[in-house]
Amino acid sequence: MPILIHDPHIATGVALKRLSLRKAAVLFIALVCLCLCGLLYLQLEQSRRHDLAEAQVASSNLTRAMAQQAEDTFTNADLVLTSLADWVQADGFGAEQRPRLQKTFARRVQALNQLHGIFLFDQKGQWVVTSFDELPRGSGVSDREYFKFHQQNVSSVAHIGPAIRSRKNGEWIIPISKRVNDKNGRFQGILLAGIKMSYFDQFFKSFSIDDNGSMFVALTDGTLLARRPFVEAQIGTSMAKGAIFQKYLPHATSGNAMISSVVDGVVRLHGYRQLDTYPLVVSAASSREAILKDWYATAFQSSVIVALVVLGVGLFGWVFIQQVRVGERVEADLRNAKEALKLIATHDSLTGLANRRLFEQALDIEFGRGARQLSSLSLIMLDIDYFKRYNDAYGHVAGDHCLAEVARAVKSCCHRKADLAVRYGGEEFAVLLPDTDLHGALVIAEQIRRSVMDKTITHSGSPSGCVTVSLGCYSFVPTGLDSMEVFIERADAALYQAKHSGRNRVAVLSMEGGVEALMRSDR
Ligand code: GH3
Ligand code: MG
Ligand code: MG
Repeated sequence: MPILIHDPHIATGVALKRLSLRKAAVLFIALVCLCLCGLLYLQLEQSRRHDLAEAQVASSNLTRAMAQQAEDTFTNADLVLTSLADWVQADGFGAEQRPRLQKTFARRVQALNQLHGIFLFDQKGQWVVTSFDELPRGSGVSDREYFKFHQQNVSSVAHIGPAIRSRKNGEWIIPISKRVNDKNGRFQGILLAGIKMSYFDQFFKSFSIDDNGSMFVALTDGTLLARRPFVEAQIGTSMAKGAIFQKYLPHATSGNAMISSVVDGVVRLHGYRQLDTYPLVVSAASSREAILKDWYATAFQSSVIVALVVLGVGLFGWVFIQQVRVGERVEADLRNAKEALKLIATHDSLTGLANRRLFEQALDIEFGRGARQLSSLSLIMLDIDYFKRYNDAYGHVAGDHCLAEVARAVKSCCHRKADLAVRYGGEEFAVLLPDTDLHGALVIAEQIRRSVMDKTITHSGSPSGCVTVSLGCYSFVPTGLDSMEVFIERADAALYQAKHSGRNRVAVLSMEGGVEALMRSDR
């Protein structure tokens, strides 16, 4: 019959494996969730960058178109002014020239959509000729910025001034002007073309930008010329302190910049471009909110889907881990049940000592070990004295208690791990002592005898007045061909000798020259 050996490492190993399975499951689920979130983040970040990059391209294209339009608008007006200035300087603007000049002015204004009107002012700033039929009345334009500019600057280059309201009809115009000299280069007056601000407005409106977006044309000094959305109060104000003029334009004449507005807190992507030919800056801005509108929707949908998947994976993981836990518990219960069964199968329920089955298994093992190691194996057989009388006197229940007490005494004398105390039969016990010679066995047997006596269990039927035991010892070095029965019989024979010699004593069986008994007694 195979020997069942309890190995605590096997159970611990299983527990470790199970623990690592649980940990692995948690790790795996965490990793899956992390990967999903990571992928979502990467994908969203990539599409966000893509959307922003596309918006930057669109913004660059828009500002390029705006710059082109502004350049064309002012170049055409400039060309008209240049040809007129040449004419005026060559022929003068005397009374006989004025009707022709007026007609020419009017024709030019008709030809160019962007023109509000063309004006010729004398050196005092008084109207001389305009593209309109009637000359305006008033104090002139000597107070205007452009007039002062030309008065003080001999340059014949066209000058673009801050937006003004026309004194002719109140319309918002952007003035582009040229100085008119006489043949000697002396200041004679100025020629001015008024560009309709509405011309820019219409152009701006031809583009679709979001509600929070904006477009503007400004002078390089930051003075606002035209803007969408049109806010009259802002026309002519300076944007020189804005981020574009402060931070970006000094470094690059065109580009893109994400700027948080100090006015409304809205973050906008600004495209800006400074014109090469005129001191003008154009810019278009779209709010980041609008640029990323679709992205926000996609991000929300993707996040919800990933959150649901993560939730599902988490839930599955939780169920899985619960299952593992249940499995663990079942396994632990089974292990305990197996242990209990093993204990029941190998131990006596009344005394808790090993039963005969375990005794025989141990004998088998120790016979082999003793033979291999050439070490003595000893056996003590013991029997309670006059136990029948004890039962008769005190009853079987008391007898059982007495048996348990004697078992405790026997057990207490088994000091080594390999020592095995056995309930051999009714009130008979055995103690197997591996690696112990006869002398050692005798010492243990004597200890047991005294230990039982020391319990002083009253026994009226015994001559000593208390429960005592008789013990027989036998010891030998196994050879590998020995018989268990003979081994037990010899210890039993020693016990028989102890009984016959008066009980409450230890008898040792010596095998030298046949059966020989050595008696001991403390009486
Ligand atoms: P001695 O051994 O000194 O020669 O006398 P004895 O009275 O002990 O004789 P014997 O060994 O023949 O008696 C055994 C008695 O032990 C018989 C039985 O009533 C009792 N006995 C055996 N097993 C049990 C048990 O499990 N419980 C109880 N209470 N008594 C038992
Ligand atoms: Mg007996
Ligand atoms: Mg007896």
